[in-house]
Amino acid sequence: NSAKLSNLTQAQLEFLAVQAKSYSQGGRLPDYIPRLAEVNPEWLAVEINCTNGESFRFGESEIPFVLMSVIKPFVLLFLLEEMGKEAVFSHVGMQASDKPFYSIEQLEADQGWPRNPMINSGAIALASLLPGDNGFSRCENLRQWLNQSAGTNLILDKAMLNSVVAAGGGRNRSIAKLMFEFGFLNAPEIAIDTYNHICCLAGNVSDLANLGMLLAEEKIGISGENRRIVNALMLTCGLYEASASFAVKVGLPTKSGVSGALLSVVPGAGAIACYSPALDRIGNSKAGIFFLEKLTNSLNLSVFV
Ligand code: GLN
Repeated sequence: NSAKLSNLTQAQLEFLAVQAKSYSQGGRLPDYIPRLAEVNPEWLAVEINCTNGESFRFGESEIPFVLMSVIKPFVLLFLLEEMGKEAVFSHVGMQASDKPFYSIEQLEADQGWPRNPMINSGAIALASLLPGDNGFSRCENLRQWLNQSAGTNLILDKAMLNSVVAAGGGRNRSIAKLMFEFGFLNAPEIAIDTYNHICCLAGNVSDLANLGMLLAEEKIGISGENRRIVNALMLTCGLYEASASFAVKVGLPTKSGVSGALLSVVPGAGAIACYSPALDRIGNSKAGIFFLEKLTNSLNLSVFV
């Protein structure tokens, strides 16, 4: 995979990205967080980092965006490093979900047990385990660890956080309340506050690619087992209901966020980061998914070799 990824040419990247950009036109911006809709739906930025040091870039690379759910695998990685897998998986499951990321119905059916860390329930449960006294300080601890480990420049987007808080987040509150009632969450208010903060960590597509490199290769201070756990959960759960079919079509651990951020890991070879805000029905970036399919098919990339 390493040779295949770095065999990419800039011309090939641009050809596929331009096709993907026109494909974004069928997508929609989310309306439940008003500030997320204040962007140009046709933006597309791509950055690919290879483990051999090569890097490719295309499009609106300088534009900052919030990570939203793309933070979820990194909360998991941080906590696996801090607490170990037994402790982490006593708070969240590792089972795929065929329901939307905000599903209350499924959480009720599962009696308040959050299925996996890539959907809202699981990420809210994990947010409650971050070290710190309040949402801000917990987010700060995660932010600093990521910036140090990945060499990123993530910042907290306060305007987006205000927009998220003003929107109310009724579903996420209901999710937290349900987990609390079933005894799977302490202090739901701080958990939600922390979750809102970490979803509003922001960077550009280059930061996103650098985050991906934490999962793509050996890094001093991060255990290989933890990296493999996160990659496995991204592959099986990272794109919600679309995860299984995407694993067949593309076969790379991938995580999306409603901001239009999309990150794929090519273990041992590199990371592919995309940002394009127009979404499909499931809440995944339309142009991003299209681009990844075309890219991996033309390079013959897959974890299944
Ligand atoms: N903050 C968003 C939410 O809870 C994140 C969801 C997402 O990116 N899919 O709705």
